[in-house]
Amino acid sequence: MEPIKNKLLELTKNLWWTWNPGVRSIFRDIDTKLYNRVHRNPLRVVKSVDPELLETRAADADIVIRTDRAIRQLKEYLEPETTWGLVNGGALNARPVAYFCAEFGIHECLPIYSGGLGILAGDHLKGASNLGIPLVGIGLLYHQGYTTQELDKTHWQQDVREPYELDDLPIKVCKDEKGEPLSVPLELPGRTIYARILEAPVGRVRLILLDTRDPRNSPEDQALAARLYGGDQRTRIQQELLLGVGGSRALRALGINASVYHLNEGHCAFAVLERARWRVKNDGLEPHFALKESAQATVFTTHTPVDAGHDRFPADLAGEHLKPLADGLGLSVEEVLGFGRVNPSDFGSPFMPTVLALKFSRRANGVAALHGVVSRRMWQVLWPGRAEADVPIGHVTNGVHVPTWLAAELDQLYKIHLGPKWSESIVHPDMWAKVEDIDPAEIWEIKQVLKARMIRFVREKDADRAKRNGLAPRKTPVLEPEALTLGFARRFVTYKRPDLLFKDPDRLDKLINNPKMPLNLIFAGRSHPADNPGKEIIKRVNELIEDPRFKNRIIFVENYNMEVGRSLYQGVDGWLNNPRRPQEACGTSGMKAVMNGGLHISILDGWWAEGYDGANGFAIGDGLIHANQEIQDQRDCEALYKLLEDEVIPMYYDRNELGLPLRWIQRVKRSIRTLSWRFNADRMLIDYARNCYLPAADANTAQMPTP
Ligand SMILES: *Cc1c(COP(=O)(O)O)cnc(C)c1O
Repeated sequence: MEPIKNKLLELTKNLWWTWNPGVRSIFRDIDTKLYNRVHRNPLRVVKSVDPELLETRAADADIVIRTDRAIRQLKEYLEPETTWGLVNGGALNARPVAYFCAEFGIHECLPIYSGGLGILAGDHLKGASNLGIPLVGIGLLYHQGYTTQELDKTHWQQDVREPYELDDLPIKVCKDEKGEPLSVPLELPGRTIYARILEAPVGRVRLILLDTRDPRNSPEDQALAARLYGGDQRTRIQQELLLGVGGSRALRALGINASVYHLNEGHCAFAVLERARWRVKNDGLEPHFALKESAQATVFTTHTPVDAGHDRFPADLAGEHLKPLADGLGLSVEEVLGFGRVNPSDFGSPFMPTVLALKFSRRANGVAALHGVVSRRMWQVLWPGRAEADVPIGHVTNGVHVPTWLAAELDQLYKIHLGPKWSESIVHPDMWAKVEDIDPAEIWEIKQVLKARMIRFVREKDADRAKRNGLAPRKTPVLEPEALTLGFARRFVTYKRPDLLFKDPDRLDKLINNPKMPLNLIFAGRSHPADNPGKEIIKRVNELIEDPRFKNRIIFVENYNMEVGRSLYQGVDGWLNNPRRPQEACGTSGMKAVMNGGLHISILDGWWAEGYDGANGFAIGDGLIHANQEIQDQRDCEALYKLLEDEVIPMYYDRNELGLPLRWIQRVKRSIRTLSWRFNADRMLIDYARNCYLPAADANTAQMPTP
């Protein structure tokens, strides 16, 4: 019989486990403490578990049977008889989509993401895997990872780096036929650097990652991709060249003949230039023709309407870095610089990768309907003479990968009421209609279990933080388990207004401390290590929470990442979202709360502007925008207080004789029924496949010979 250790190792090799709670629980049950200590990384559990303990656990038949079953399920998953992609994927089945992104959030043990963009990219890969849409992800391996947020005694965010070892992750070095590691060269000013090509299996799709730790590189160049969004403008443009140019070369080195390039944000825009350069060099195409061809096979998604979210590289810095591409294309540097300017002859003005991507893509889109409108307005300057409505930027609304975010208890409930294979029909509204038949008590009880688990988690994290800062433990436990509990977790940047609720502390006091209708608030969120104004807001919110009136009702949880997020989305009764409209491109955290039976309480911005139907959650305000920011903030703040006071809280505490808030539960059901089938990754992937990938692939097959 095969030793259990080998079987377990087999299971760790494909990141499929990241969205299978049943598989993850095998590793958790082997040694729970160890599991949590190693960031729930199964491979590290198998490597570090005490061999004797593992033997004892293996003798416990349950573990062996669960492992065998998981291995069988993985095998079946990897060899499907049919998939949506096989039936509907057309040209993509011969040549896959290459999905470029600067970050990928697949699981918290692989720290190559910082926030929404990365987690969306991770969910995109998982969705493509589930549907069998041929797609490869291309990103960078940041070997120093991102940072862990720790708040010191003064509530100032400390960014603690925790290095990780490649050997501890299911990432392998790609090799050529001779068994030598594959790498790609990249010309940078005054030198050529090399990047190793790594690969991680994510279910049925692959994630390709570039690693600059090649012994041929100088120590500085080896550190080029050490950190996500680290360093200055020079580091940044070099990372972007690595992602776009190096990524495109890695595809060729691996023999992957991608049909469509899907570029996410401007960070990877240089890929269009490299693809054209190669056609010029290899097939002798005329450069402008090659660029047109490259654009025909490119889909570009912009993910933010916030101006500062779009890179601007000074002209001389960009020129210096674009010279090798310009030479390869046979064009002047000045002409290539013009591709990244609104007005090409605006000599000396900065180079914007977003502009390059918008000019050289066949289809561009925002990530929600409202974001489409805002993006058309924002980029109308690129299409002078066209009416705003005719600017060629559409939208595909984001969705989340349900199995990654859904509590196991709710998966069970859905299996009973929607059918054992409910997750295969997730985009069908008819199936979700059956949610109405679920006994209110059943949903309510599960929610109480999930909430209790979250409160335990939050209290533990809070105790750890106090201990680290040398503070005495709390005398009374924070957060009353029976109280209505709302969550607010996101990056702390001003437009998300994390401190909006604190504008009137006396009113907030009345709101949360009503003895008959108490309210708990859980905050979490990080700032970019270089974002001091963001860190100031974190500090301020934490100081406000210290007010004795708030201390036991409001808590800030450190280190918002996928683990903390999962716990909050699953446990909260409601999810607060109060950005300054229209700056939230989409937002996805609320979708994760919704499928877990939480109600979305949000400004009508991002996805909520198209998701809210008047009774499937709550709207803060009426979606108005004011030219004066202060007035807009004031108005939204008043609307938020009023909504909580008059509607949200009373509805939650309106109980029947069995103690059930029937009107609230009715709203939860309606929210799950009307929102889940739309705002999930399967629907997003199908939209991209039908409206973006297939048209681009078809145009492309007609033109491009296989190399
Ligand atoms: C989903 C998610 C996000 C993105 O949520 P927004 O609503 O866009 O802020 C950010 N961080 C984590 C950990 C997430 O899970």
